[in-house]
Amino acid sequence: MPGLDEKLHDIHEEVLRRNPGETEFHQAVHEVLDSLGPVVAKHPQYADAAVIRRLCEPERQIIFRVPWIDDAGQVQINRGFRVEFNSALGPYKGGLRFHPTVYLGIVKFLGFEQIFKNALTGLPIGGGKGGSDFDPKGRSDGEVMRFCQAFMTELYRHIGEYTDVPAGDTGVGGREIGYLFGQYKRITNRYESGVLTGKGLGWGGSQVRTEATGYGTVFFTDEILKSRGESFDGRRVVVSGSGNVAVYAIEKVHELGGTVVACSDSTGYVVDDKGVDLELLKDVKLNRRARIAEYAERRGAHYVEDGSVWDVPCDIALPCATQNELNGRDAAVLIRSGCAVVAEGANMPCTPEAVRLFAEAGVVFAPGKAANAGGVATSALEMQQNASRDSWSFEHTEQRLADIMHGIHDRCLETADEYGVPGNYAVGANIAGFTQVADAMLALGVI
Ligand code: NDP
Repeated sequence: MPGLDEKLHDIHEEVLRRNPGETEFHQAVHEVLDSLGPVVAKHPQYADAAVIRRLCEPERQIIFRVPWIDDAGQVQINRGFRVEFNSALGPYKGGLRFHPTVYLGIVKFLGFEQIFKNALTGLPIGGGKGGSDFDPKGRSDGEVMRFCQAFMTELYRHIGEYTDVPAGDTGVGGREIGYLFGQYKRITNRYESGVLTGKGLGWGGSQVRTEATGYGTVFFTDEILKSRGESFDGRRVVVSGSGNVAVYAIEKVHELGGTVVACSDSTGYVVDDKGVDLELLKDVKLNRRARIAEYAERRGAHYVEDGSVWDVPCDIALPCATQNELNGRDAAVLIRSGCAVVAEGANMPCTPEAVRLFAEAGVVFAPGKAANAGGVATSALEMQQNASRDSWSFEHTEQRLADIMHGIHDRCLETADEYGVPGNYAVGANIAGFTQVADAMLALGVI
């Protein structure tokens, strides 16, 4: 693979050979290895202890059958996953994704990214991820509950406050976490609040957790703008997606004086030059779980079916939908339209070609493992509150989130400076996250 030095190249070849067909995992590993050349040159101890090779192999991978009965009385079979990737810094931590595209390669890419993201937060959490190929779309509440109960009936034996603490991700929000927690409590007969995060505010959840990933992405982008003497004020922003991350990113952009002029879902996008009407969007996408076309119809906004939201000119782009949703062609269009900053709210939404084009054009690029770390950071704050049987105010929790995002931003920049690539957030994030985990792995011995 071009760009990797010999040792890292060999590791990458080994990853490809040992994990056939897992293309997203290969992509995520390559993206990190590509940054590590100067680190292994400076610190040979990492290679001597095979730290990188160990990091690329999950500590544990669990795959299980999830049988459940639908509303028509038919037995349905899904596949469940939990990949416990690395616990050098703390219990495995990372969300569960319910989406028909989920397979081992997706879970491993997300789990691998999560290791470095969690390290960047500076909080004591390891990396893991899980999910299922279950599609919640069009399913009744009863079906979602029975699926969640069946999923937890196997998962419960692998998780725990000090072992592995799942949360939400695509397709897993407050409703699903409620059903999952209920089944965990029922099976174990323990009210172990710290076993899951993203819980409801009335039963162990944290203020700001729902908003945290979207808000955090915007706080991070705001730090980028401030470091250049700029702000969101008067900026045109495009946000892809209209789920948990996208909606709260839009909310915070508007609070900070920017205008979100377009957003999307998997069927199309809307252009709303007056600024997206957030209450209407929340009603359509979060409450009614409907298509974004309904937003356009009710709002009288322009709707484009199947097109690319990145065709809408903007100053700042926040991809908040899914992996590989912004490709080289989209990047070229954004660059031509004058977009100056791209920050990933989703995990790995920009393809390697898009990232390369942004770098060549001088567009500031913030990778998801830094920019969207606010979600997991606030999950760790939820764990802290559960452990101390405390609950913090919205303002206090939001300030903690803002401080954490500020800290991650500065660490990325300082590390990029230290390694001679000033302003390169991607390399800064990879190296800062890696060294934190690698040093802990060295201290813990070969395990
Ligand atoms: P949700 O399920 O709440 O929302 C996902 C949104 O993306 C939906 O609007 C969905 O549309 C849309 N979407 C999916 N595929 C496409 C596509 N190909 N093109 C356009 N839109 C698409 O998920 P989240 O908001 O929770 O997660 C979004 C991303 O953020 C994921 O990459 C996730 O891993 C990442 N993330 C999430 C965190 C969290 O706390 N939730 C934390 C850190 C990262 P539709 O309604 O049609 O399905």
